[in-house]
Amino acid sequence: MKINIGLSDSHLSGKEYKYIKQALDANQVSNYGENISCLEKTLEAFLEKNYKVACLSSGTGAIHLALILAGVKKDDEVLCQSMTFSASANPILYLGANPVFIDSENETWNMCPNYLEEAIEDRIFKSEKPKAIIVVHSYGMPAKISEIVAVAEKYEIPLIEDTAEALGSSYKGQKCGTFGDFVILSFNGNKIITTSGGGALATRDKEIKNKAIFLATQAKENAPHYQHSEIGYNYRMSNILAGIGRGQMEVIDKHISLRRSMNIFYKEIFKDVKGVSVFQEPNTDYFSNHWLSCILIESKITGFTRDDLRIELSRKNIESRPLWKPMHLQPIFKDYPFYGSNVSESLFNNGLCLPSGSNLTKKEKALIAKTILDYINH
Ligand SMILES: *Cc1c(COP(=O)(O)O)cnc(C)c1O
Repeated sequence: MKINIGLSDSHLSGKEYKYIKQALDANQVSNYGENISCLEKTLEAFLEKNYKVACLSSGTGAIHLALILAGVKKDDEVLCQSMTFSASANPILYLGANPVFIDSENETWNMCPNYLEEAIEDRIFKSEKPKAIIVVHSYGMPAKISEIVAVAEKYEIPLIEDTAEALGSSYKGQKCGTFGDFVILSFNGNKIITTSGGGALATRDKEIKNKAIFLATQAKENAPHYQHSEIGYNYRMSNILAGIGRGQMEVIDKHISLRRSMNIFYKEIFKDVKGVSVFQEPNTDYFSNHWLSCILIESKITGFTRDDLRIELSRKNIESRPLWKPMHLQPIFKDYPFYGSNVSESLFNNGLCLPSGSNLTKKEKALIAKTILDYINH
């Protein structure tokens, strides 16, 4: 049998069936019901800090609504981490607003607080104050979030915390997803937990949660007929899918420890390999869920590039992928301003994400280890 090892496959627990069946039995198959309200309560308890959660149909939709709720309008500027998945930035364009991309720093690979401040000063000088900041905890690694929050507060700019990859990560003991004015989560099939497809918006304010749900359910006002004075969206989560999420929340801590053990697995493989470093927390203030484990390859030392290793892995049906190609280098975003140097570009050129799923078997892990070590020692 052909072994096919993915980067980050869904990992179901069996606990999901009960909640899906309950929804079907109760005829609650649309976008309201017990699974949605219970999943929201469970997420609120998990995040702590009294955040309020609205379950939505995707993380991308959550970013779109966060931007609307932050007051972003056509032609406004939004500061966005360049090194991320395109879903962090696309909703800026949905609104006809303009992204301004910020480079990473080398310790967490996330938005550099210094470049962020430089960009804000320069945008105020050249055009106007940006309307929002989107920071990402890439691969589960917490960003330098206290410094980012300090800059956002200094300039009074709303902070959107893209926590799609970092549910369960924390900084100085405080969970990622409890720093921003708006927090977005994703439960896509490849994330640390899944609802098949889905996401959520979290905020400190119950009124903002209610407004998010209002916008996500077509902005229907309180009247006997359908009355609308705002643009509505169809972004609410289905009660069936929320049932998958309830089952997944029962195993999230297990998923986190399994993902973290994948990081240790790679540290072991590469421990004697000069020129390869496994991405890890800069110090004990940072706790990553290690959604994906990544390596940096210094090809001058190793004699092979990240693509050489990627191609070798793919020969054995093992998936790996270069780190995010920064948004400021993407054709769709190339004309927007960028502040920084070549940090994210160099990470992209030298970095590789390796299979990191919480459900990889012993046999699969042995094949990964053997393929990598055979290649390095050939
Ligand atoms: C997955 C992801 C999203 C989008 O979430 P979806 O639920 O797939 O729409 C946004 N930002 C980041 C950083 C992601 O990894």
